Amino acid sequence: MALECTYASLSAVDQTDPEAVQALLQSCVRALLDPSLWEWAIFLTLVCAAIGALIGRSKGRWLAGFIWGAALGPIGWIVIAVAKREPRECPECGRKNSPDAKVCHNCGIHFAKYASQTTRSRLKSQDRSRGW
Ligand SMILES: [Zn+2]
Repeated sequence: MALECTYASLSAVDQTDPEAVQALLQSCVRALLDPSLWEWAIFLTLVCAAIGALIGRSKGRWLAGFIWGAALGPIGWIVIAVAKREPRECPECGRKNSPDAKVCHNCGIHFAKYASQTTRSRLKSQDRSRGW
């Protein structure tokens, strides 16, 4: 008789019979090492991580969302959903500004304008402001 690893068979096994306990243990190990179980576990972890990354992306923290989602699933989604947004780092001076800032509080550059400029046009405007 092939034992199945279920809660009923676990509670019904005769603990004074070593062979019965051994057979049930082997059945449970087989169930835990079943590749399809692991494929599902990995698939669900990746899905949870992807959803966490999507939630985190809206806060500029997709990697934190990915890790929280992979580690804790739906609880990790809540953690990243209530987390603070990533501060906006100035590309010119490196100072961290509030996430909604449009200009740097330290050097005053306009983030959107800065991002649309090329290095060459940035240098040109610097030259102009120096009075060439
Ligand atoms: Zn700055």
